[in-house]
Formats: sequence, C-alpha cells, structure tokens
Amino acid sequence: MEERGWSGFSGRLAYALRALADLLMPRRCLVCGEVLETLPAGADRRSLSAHLCPACMEDLPETFFWSWEENPVEQQLWHRVGIIHATSLYFYRQGSEYTRLVQAVKYDGNLRLGRALGRELGRRMAAAGRFSKPAIQAIVPVPLHPLRRWKRGYNQAEVIARGLAEGMGEKPLPVVTDLLRRARYTRTQTKLSAEGKQRNVAGAFVLRPSVDARLQAAGIRHLLIVDDVITTGATLSEVIKPLLPHFRISVATIAFVE
Ligand SMILES: [Zn+2]
Repeated sequence: MEERGWSGFSGRLAYALRALADLLMPRRCLVCGEVLETLPAGADRRSLSAHLCPACMEDLPETFFWSWEENPVEQQLWHRVGIIHATSLYFYRQGSEYTRLVQAVKYDGNLRLGRALGRELGRRMAAAGRFSKPAIQAIVPVPLHPLRRWKRGYNQAEVIARGLAEGMGEKPLPVVTDLLRRARYTRTQTKLSAEGKQRNVAGAFVLRPSVDARLQAAGIRHLLIVDDVITTGATLSEVIKPLLPHFRISVATIAFVE
C-alpha cells in the first residue's frame, strides 16, 4: 500500500536525511569495504544489512548449527561439560574478511553491530525451534573481569546477549549479568596453547549465591550462556561448571573458530 500524508512525508524526509548523511560520510561494508547504499525508507536500521553490503550478507559463512543436532560446537562442549544445545552464527576462519565482524564488536566498540549479530542468531534459533525444548528462560553473557570491562567500556558478550534476547522472542528474555563474577584477571587467550588456555581460565568464574537464589525462586532452570567466539571451549566450560548443579545450560556464540 502506498504511504500517504504525514507518515509518507516523514518517511521521505528521513530517507533524504539519511542519504545526505551517507553522502557526507559514506558508510562502508565492514567485510569488503564497498560504500553502502542508503537504506530504503522503512528498512530496519538495526539489522545486519545496515553494516554489510548485499553480496557480503549473501556470502556470510553461516553454520546452520541452530537446526543441526550434535553439531561440532555441541560435540566440542560435551567433551568437557554437560550442556543441552549449542550453536554459533558463522564460521570464523583465519584470513577470512568476516573475522572483522567480531573484531569490530570486540575491539572497535561497534555495539550496534554486536546487537544486530545477536538478533540475527536469535531469530534463526527461534525459527529452528530446537532451543525451545526445553525453553530457555534467561540469558547470561560471559562476564569480563571488572578491570577489563572498565578498560573496554563495555562487555561485548552482554551486547550480543541483548540482541539475542530481542531476536529469540516477541517478549525479550531477561539478560542476567550478575549471576557470575570473574574472580581472576586472566591473560588474553589468543596466544596460548590448548592446555595453557585450560589452565589460564580454570576456576576463574564464581557463582553469586544471592542471584542464584533469586533465579531459583523465580523458577528459572534453563540458561543460555553467550559469548562472542568459541575456539576450544576452554573458557565456556569454566563458565558452565559452577552453574551445572543448579541449571540446565545451552550455549550461543556469534563465531565458531574452525
Ligand atoms: Zn561487502
């Protein structure tokens, strides 16, 4: 139906302003660097297509783990801890331009992108249906150590968790940020061996009894743990261990490192 009257006018005005802003400061595709076209009137500016060109959207190396039982990320975690389901949005391959997405969220403070990626994954999980058996009742981002959070100014896992909460249902699920605390300041994992990673994070996460009791009282039993990337599963398994006596755990990350 054709837009009429004030709403049609304000839509055209909003488009003209966006086009002008894009002319003055062109937005570029985060993957290939191409200048992005001005989003059409009515387009969701919070969507992933506000950050990626249509070709790079099309080529996103999606895992399809959301509808794949016993997928590689589930197997990797089952090897270490008991979880229900796990998924990632896309494959993170060294040398691929798509690694820039996670880097933009983690190091460049592109929080809108983080939220958009979370929303994309949440929608896929909701459509697949697997994650509603049993239903997830709350979302818990992997905490950063307070010092690292202070230095960075935000926790990227929390930003992704908020997007997931929006994408997974009509009514966003609660995002619980104070259930776990990071007891030790751990080194960055990137340059460590698999065994070194495990030692580095062993016992790093501690449950807060008061928040645990609050969730128990609210009847919350199934949590979705969220992180930006899963590599060996060392960090995630340490996050999950203190939760297992009290909760069922599923896992979602944006990227899966092959
Ligand atoms: Zn592109």
